[in-house]
Amino acid sequence: MPEPEKVVIIGSGPAGWTAAIYCARAELKPLVFEGAVTEENRMAGTLPLGQLALTTEVENYPGFPKGDLESYLDNSIAEDRRIIMAPHMKEGVSGPELMELMRQQALNFGTRVITQDIVEVDFENRPFRLTDSEGNTHEAHAVIVATGARANYLGLPSEDKYKNRGVSACAVCDGALPRFRNKPLVVVGGGDSAVEEADYLTKYAEKVYMVHRRDELRASKIMAQRAIEHPKIEILWNRTLVEVLGNDESGVTGVRLASTKGEDDLEVPATGVFLAIGHTPNTAFLEGKLAMTDKKYLQWTKPGRTYTSVEGVFAAGDVADDYYRQAVTAAGSGCMAALDAERWLAAKGM
Ligand code: NAP
Repeated sequence: MPEPEKVVIIGSGPAGWTAAIYCARAELKPLVFEGAVTEENRMAGTLPLGQLALTTEVENYPGFPKGDLESYLDNSIAEDRRIIMAPHMKEGVSGPELMELMRQQALNFGTRVITQDIVEVDFENRPFRLTDSEGNTHEAHAVIVATGARANYLGLPSEDKYKNRGVSACAVCDGALPRFRNKPLVVVGGGDSAVEEADYLTKYAEKVYMVHRRDELRASKIMAQRAIEHPKIEILWNRTLVEVLGNDESGVTGVRLASTKGEDDLEVPATGVFLAIGHTPNTAFLEGKLAMTDKKYLQWTKPGRTYTSVEGVFAAGDVADDYYRQAVTAAGSGCMAALDAERWLAAKGM
């Protein structure tokens, strides 16, 4: 077995790459497991580069105002990796571009990358042992978990077909796109996120239909009231989404809704469908190994630090955050985890 890694980073979203940039610059020679490219991961929304690679423009990540990044992208990203990036929009930066830039920045400082998932961990012995999806084991003194979370989808084939063509799980990411402006839109869900998404979308939409499977919102009273009273929001109670309607040319054109009360199906025209039925953190492989909340998010065990329940294991980004869930907050906590790991290793003389 080769020498144990000083630090292994699991995950390749903004938290993972930021942690890698900081660890690499601290000469910790980080090894990143960016995830495996498999059909299973594609369907689950857990391919390398994370949730941002599934979005279009990113207008709220500081440092990327509207402007021409094309020449920089052309010069810095290897040609065979540019294929996942849509033609540059000249409007800030897109999610896939932002992730490629972060990845490249981490590589530039000597980060090594393995395109596999970590499927098993042994945090009881030191150095820690990690098993990847090819069955290889790797030893590490410190680990940063940055595996993120996935938006929940209903699992309808029509929903999958129109992802990025009108189906989204992030109004803040996608709501301002031209296809959603002054058009009717649909939000599925009845929690605080659904209300927040619906409320946000009213800035652009002609009208927002909230589709909820019960006759009472789960959202907090004040949020629920906001939705109920909003002149542009109409709540379609006791309804479930059974099909996203659309065509190849236009993408989403509407939804078909079933009734939970035995009424007829209802078709509603819309150019966008936003799922707000919760997120699931990517922590299944850590079950029983690290302390988690009741929703399976990793717990930070020291206020203001990225420490987990196992000394030497740190958590960053959405995997430990079900509240802010922004690219910039994930990147920020990736930086924190790298500094925490560096200081912890230094204190141990490693
Ligand atoms: P959530 O509270 O779990 O709500 C999920 C909603 O989706 C529920 O209304 C649920 O319906 C519905 N749903 C789940 N699975 C479904 C399915 N298969 N088909 C149809 N509907 C389905 O999740 P969230 O809204 O993302 O909120 C997560 C946490 O963050 C909460 O603690 C929330 O308070 C917090 N949050 C707070 C704010 C804020 O304060 N501004 C904003 C966003 C989130 P049922 O109600 O029938 O179960």
